[in-house]
Amino acid sequence: MQPYHKTQGVILKTRKYSESSKLLTVYTREFGRVNALAKGARKLKSRFGSSLEVFTESKFLLYKQPMAGLYVVSQSQILSPHEGLYSGSGKFAAASVMADFLYTHTVQGEKHEELYQFFRGSLKALELSGSTQNVLLSFMLKYLSIAGYRPNLKACASCGKPDRSASKSYRVSAKHGGILCEACSRKEGDSVVISGPSLKALCCLQENGYQVVAGLKLESCLGDEIRKVINNFLEYNYEYSLKSLKVMEEMVK
Ligand SMILES: [Zn+2]
Repeated sequence: MQPYHKTQGVILKTRKYSESSKLLTVYTREFGRVNALAKGARKLKSRFGSSLEVFTESKFLLYKQPMAGLYVVSQSQILSPHEGLYSGSGKFAAASVMADFLYTHTVQGEKHEELYQFFRGSLKALELSGSTQNVLLSFMLKYLSIAGYRPNLKACASCGKPDRSASKSYRVSAKHGGILCEACSRKEGDSVVISGPSLKALCCLQENGYQVVAGLKLESCLGDEIRKVINNFLEYNYEYSLKSLKVMEEMVK
């Protein structure tokens, strides 16, 4: 195998490696999540410029010796700086939640092109959108879908009975994978109760692109219910306790 690899990727994390170098975690299109050493990147006049900042998408030439575990960045060039994420209004915090989620729930070296495209699209949407909260909630729902845990919001997830009621409230169960009909919800204690409008908003966040999602008006009571449902799914499928929920709550204050 050639020791040089061309790829493009988004920087998820950076940390100090030595006085002059940085260790990067990059989610790449070609190799999934990788660690890469950028020698001299902490120097004032680094040849990498700002191409190695967190959330920046860059093209890379990576070097890896056949038996070595770590890539070394040979060259890099900015594709998209996503500088709008640094503009305040909670965007950086939301992007950090997304990046941390991706970092935690992907396997090093496992390529997943759909996830890569989804992640970079989500950062771009966050950068351009007026609604940080909606983009983040939608990101989590879409991520669940890509990962094969798409919440079924159209029919009873237990017996399959289609939802025909214009019900005032619904029960959602992560264990069953979606909403429950009345009969099934009587048997199932472990579920979250949400209102009809919350279910409608959940569907919108799940089904639509970010442009539509950003325009959705969420009253705070709906936002609370929606966060509860998403949290329920994340905890059930990932044991992810959404400490990010606190971050989200901070952001929408
Ligand atoms: Zn049912």
